[in-house]
Amino acid sequence: MTKPHRADTISNVAWKRAVDLCALAFWDAPISSAVKAVEIMRIRVADAVHLTGEQFPFEVSEEFAPQTYAERTVSFSEPVKVSGTYVYDSKAFTVSGRVETSVNSICALCTKEFVEPVEFTFTERFTRDESETDDETYPYSGDELVLDKAVLDNLFLQLSIASVCSENCKGLCPVCGVDRNVTECNCLTQ
Ligand SMILES: [Zn+2]
Ligand SMILES: [Zn+2]
Repeated sequence: MTKPHRADTISNVAWKRAVDLCALAFWDAPISSAVKAVEIMRIRVADAVHLTGEQFPFEVSEEFAPQTYAERTVSFSEPVKVSGTYVYDSKAFTVSGRVETSVNSICALCTKEFVEPVEFTFTERFTRDESETDDETYPYSGDELVLDKAVLDNLFLQLSIASVCSENCKGLCPVCGVDRNVTECNCLTQ
């Protein structure tokens, strides 16, 4: 492994260092897995374990590295903000949240780059018992829930296959190729 080139940014707080070293490991890896963010979107839930059924509010915001999903690289143009509640039912945590961010997209009609807002809500369960972890739940350990994978899994499902820069986008002329939002042409396209 190459010498850590982000060493100067590593905080002197021990856990932060561990997280950053983890990031360095990812740094050199080829982009192949769906979830490549440093696992830092976390909520501490120690109190809720003793107060079964009570809803606790949370709010987190993190910058995600570009993610690869379905052969598309998803890069974020702003931090991913999540707010919502978590509740413990003596077996698992249920997290309900609202996600707000925006991603860099390319218009399927005019091929222009644009910033596409992404907003959605999700509800996911987190369980500590590995035997209960399946497609419907996410694992957690200790007294904190790491939301990265749950948030990204839900976010990928929200991305449209063909994003357009505006509902009025006129696209490219199929004959001469000009951007018809910018230039009018006299091609016969009918
Ligand atoms: Zn467009
Ligand atoms: Zn034309």
